[in-house]
Amino acid sequence: MLRVENIDVYYGMIHAIRGLSLEVNEGEIVTLIGANGAGKTSTLRAISGLNPIKNGEIFYENAKVDSLDAHKLVGKGVSQVPEGRRIFGDQTVEENLLLGAYLRKDKTEAKKTMEEVFKRFPRILERRKQMAGTLSGGEQQMLAIGRALMAKPKLLLLDEPSMGLAPIIVEEIFDIIKEIREQGTTILLVEQNANLALQLADRGYVLETGSIVLSGNANDLLNNEAVQKAYLG
Ligand code: ATP
Repeated sequence: MLRVENIDVYYGMIHAIRGLSLEVNEGEIVTLIGANGAGKTSTLRAISGLNPIKNGEIFYENAKVDSLDAHKLVGKGVSQVPEGRRIFGDQTVEENLLLGAYLRKDKTEAKKTMEEVFKRFPRILERRKQMAGTLSGGEQQMLAIGRALMAKPKLLLLDEPSMGLAPIIVEEIFDIIKEIREQGTTILLVEQNANLALQLADRGYVLETGSIVLSGNANDLLNNEAVQKAYLG
C-alpha cells in the first residue's frame, strides 16, 4: 500500500533522513520506533508531503506520490495525526472535527462520519460544544485522531499518540488504534514508547540517526536483545 524507497530529507545542512526505505501493506499496523531526534517525525512528514525529499521515491497504491501536495494525498486516503495533536484550541470540538472533513464535498456525509467518530469517542461527544483547548491531553489526542478519521482515511499516519499522556490513557488510545485497524484502516505508527508500539504492531522498523538499523516482525523485535537494551529498558 505504501512504499518508501531510499529517501533523504535535509534541513539546510542537516541530513536528517538517510536512505530510508520502508513498506506498509494493506491491513497492517506498522510501527517506526526510535529515540528522540532519530527522525521519526521527519519520515512521517516526508510521507504525508509536508517535508520535501531530496532523493528516493514514495509510492502509495502503486502511484508515485512524493511530489504531491499534502492535501492531494489526504484526498487519496492518507491522513496524519501530527505530533503534539495540533488541535485548534479556540474552536469547539465539533468545529475541529469538521475541519478534518474540509475536502469532502458532501457535508451530510461528513456529519454522518462525525457521528461515527462520536460513537468511537464518547468522551468527545459529551464535550462537542466545548472549546478544544479546555480538553485534557488524552481528550485532545482523541480529538486529533477523530479529526483525521473525518477524512475517511485508508492509511492513517500517527505521530507519537502516547506523548505526554498517563499510562492508563495511553492504553485507552492504543485500544482505539487497534479498533480502527480492525475496521479496515491501515496504520503507520511512530512511537518513542517502543514496548507498547511493538505489542500493538504487526511489524516494526527501528530508526537511528536517520537510518533504519533493524526491521521485522514486531514480536521478534520485542525479543531482540539489542532492541531490549536500547529501547525497552
Ligand atoms: P522526536 O521524538 O524528538 O520528535 P524524531 O525522531 O521525530 O524526534 P525528528 O523530529 O524527525 O526526530 O528530527 C530528526 C532530526 O532532524 C533531528 O536532528 C532534528 O534536530 C532535525 N530537525 C527536525 N526538524 C527540523 C527543522 N525544522 N529544522 C532543522 N532541523 C530539524
